[in-house]
Amino acid sequence: NTALVWFRRDLRSFDNAALSQALAQFDRVHCAFVFDTEILDALPARRDRRVEFIWHAVAELDRALAELGAGAGVPGAGLIVAHGRADREIPALARELGVQAVLTNRDYEPEALARDARVMQALARDGIAFRAFKDQVVFESDEVLTREGRPFSVFTPYRNAWRRQLDPARLQPFPVASNAARLAPRPLQRDNMPALAALGFEPTDLAALRLPTGMSGGRALVDDFMGRIGRYREARDYPALKGVSYLSTHLRFGTVSVRELFARALAEGSEGAQCWVDELIWREFYQMILWHHPRVVSASFRPEYDRVRWEDDPAGFEAWQEGRTGYPIVDAGMRQLRQSGYMHNRLRMVAASFLTKDLGIDWRLGERHFAALLNDYDLAANNGGWQWAASTGCDAQPYFRIFNPVTQSERFDPKGGFIRRYVPELARVPERYIHAPWKMSAADQAAAGVRIGRDYPAPLVDHGEARQRTLARYAVVKG
Ligand code: FAD
Repeated sequence: NTALVWFRRDLRSFDNAALSQALAQFDRVHCAFVFDTEILDALPARRDRRVEFIWHAVAELDRALAELGAGAGVPGAGLIVAHGRADREIPALARELGVQAVLTNRDYEPEALARDARVMQALARDGIAFRAFKDQVVFESDEVLTREGRPFSVFTPYRNAWRRQLDPARLQPFPVASNAARLAPRPLQRDNMPALAALGFEPTDLAALRLPTGMSGGRALVDDFMGRIGRYREARDYPALKGVSYLSTHLRFGTVSVRELFARALAEGSEGAQCWVDELIWREFYQMILWHHPRVVSASFRPEYDRVRWEDDPAGFEAWQEGRTGYPIVDAGMRQLRQSGYMHNRLRMVAASFLTKDLGIDWRLGERHFAALLNDYDLAANNGGWQWAASTGCDAQPYFRIFNPVTQSERFDPKGGFIRRYVPELARVPERYIHAPWKMSAADQAAAGVRIGRDYPAPLVDHGEARQRTLARYAVVKG
């Protein structure tokens, strides 16, 4: 009996639930990845760092499967790579290969669930089974519930329950190599890893960024981070420091195993490691929220917040997108996003708060902008983060807590090192003005080589006034 393993956001050949199950239960196992035109065609640009990241990860996965096969006496094993609509390619491939089942790892996004339902139906018509496994989280959908059996909507009790339910067996890796002799040789006509250009995409600056790709890149980042995880709690809030793991894109595409990350962090055990474990639990929390409440994709988690009336301000939105708001910490974050596809978590919170509470612009617009540019874009985490900042979400920042962009800057980039890196116009501005450069006298501006209003914008809004407008705007939720 023969199976097909369909890889999606689990681009690794070790500790992989669906691959492990297939190798344990079937005599011959084919592996496939589809560059899905449904997803690719909807991307806003033909230069997309994520497509290139995936392309490298798929190429490495193909090589790794070939090596696994060769080591177990199966020459010619590897990944079958298709380009087309996944809901047609997978059923067609399953028929062509004559498999009895397609195995895959579960994806909890509403569109992915709908696609999988279509694939399952198409396969069923040919009598082929479709089986999905939990792989990208430790606890999925309704595995962690309140005592009353309901989904949590507050993080801390969810985290406590999550930690109580964890037993080490859940973090055991799913074996792959021991059954590698069951990998099937790839059909000759399917020996076709497409070039990036054949997918309709151009190369990006990915190679110049410090984001190594594939399983090997993920491994390098994990090893590097494990050496400094003990300092995570103190260092994680300062964008100028190398305090965080930079693993989000690898977690998004499954080039690292989340079980291994939890296991290593828990074994390390320091306060920093425990704090980082909580961040990984936030990831599971938002995936759980999205699964239970798919309407959050376009609506506020708390429906009364959909009464808030947002500003129609295309010029303000564009200034925010381009990092020209006049608030250096916001602009530095927004330029980091544009230049690298990454933004530090503290700055995501500050930038999202600025858009919604200083400019009064709908969180959905900001969320879409992040979705277009973030290498680690993940619907559940991004939506959760935006609704947190906009106060519309579950367990969100209360609406009357409004980040002051100057105070945030003073606290989290005290010397302005991060600002100077991304806003070079301000490179020579002295420390005491770097957070609010409009306060410089004309003479100070001349000495710093920058004229506010000409070389760097004056603040788009006055924060104190914006704050009052926001309190009034959100007052509708009380009525
Ligand atoms: P680390 O600090 O090393 O954290 C480790 C991992 O934990 C991350 O890689 C991520 O998988 C997870 N994690 C950490 N914080 C969160 C969180 N608040 N919610 C969910 N998971 C978390 N994260 C994404 O992965 N994709 C997104 O599209 C995304 N959009 C965001 C939008 C906004 C407005 C905000 C406020 C946060 C967003 N986050 C998102 C969460 C967080 O900012 C990133 O996960 C983090 O900055 C990635 O860097 P890192 O891997 O070095 O994180």
